[in-house]
Amino acid sequence: MEIRKEAQAASSGTPTAVQLEAINALAKARLNGEQVYVFSLRLCDDQIDRDFERFDEAALPGLAKLFIGKTGIVDHRWSTENQVARIFETQVVREKGTSYIKAWAYIRRGGANDEIIADIEAGIKKEVSVGCAMGRAVCSVCGSEYGTCGHLKGESYEGQVCCAILQEPVDAYEFSFVAVPAQREAGVLKALGGKRKLKELAEEFGAQGEYRVLAKDAELGRRYRKELEDNVVRLGLALELGVSEPVLRNLTGVAAAEDLLALKEALEGRLEEMLPVTRQLGGGEKRESVESGFLI
Ligand SMILES: [Zn+2]
Repeated sequence: MEIRKEAQAASSGTPTAVQLEAINALAKARLNGEQVYVFSLRLCDDQIDRDFERFDEAALPGLAKLFIGKTGIVDHRWSTENQVARIFETQVVREKGTSYIKAWAYIRRGGANDEIIADIEAGIKKEVSVGCAMGRAVCSVCGSEYGTCGHLKGESYEGQVCCAILQEPVDAYEFSFVAVPAQREAGVLKALGGKRKLKELAEEFGAQGEYRVLAKDAELGRRYRKELEDNVVRLGLALELGVSEPVLRNLTGVAAAEDLLALKEALEGRLEEMLPVTRQLGGGEKRESVESGFLI
């Protein structure tokens, strides 16, 4: 899954000799200290963010390595002329109970880049958005693959707020300076799959509110679907259809929601028909209580 988070840039200045070595290891042409401007970035950390997600601390070192050599762009478009900065060094920093990836990036001085450097110095281009791909998200409540257990991010379970823990770094992408302050409110750009996703488009067209409502509904929909599947499997087993649970699971997993609902109702009806029989077989006491129920 592709993840996009906010991060922060801090101004720095002229590179040290060691930093210049690292920069030149990546640069096409050899650069000297006067030609580059260095700044640092606070990338991902292991704290729960407003999406109720956090990076697993164990995932940070691997992710930090993936960010080396990645470029920074000024807007969200992918074009080479906009790629102005490049990360040349990363490190996992631990302080005050938090672990985060600190990155150092450089920009070549001169031309339009000087404006960007001035903006970073002035704190205007302080906010950046970073992207990466993570292989796994697990539920903080029960440790299952997130989305399979029914626990929902942000919901409280016996005093414990559920979040998704992002694990197994797969790739790191470019970062971009967030030019419009309003986008900060829009929060984090995050998508499953390809490059241009609904959330990204919602952000671009100012439909973040609607997107959030949709996302919440979708989450509830998935939970409802899971319940529906569970119910059908349970009914199938209770009715002793002679079909094994894995087969029932496979079938319910691919069935359309309407079909599942129809099947559930049909199976419930069948179970109801069988219940009086079951009760009678269950012994006298039960039957009496049922019969007295009818008399009232
Ligand atoms: Zn869970």
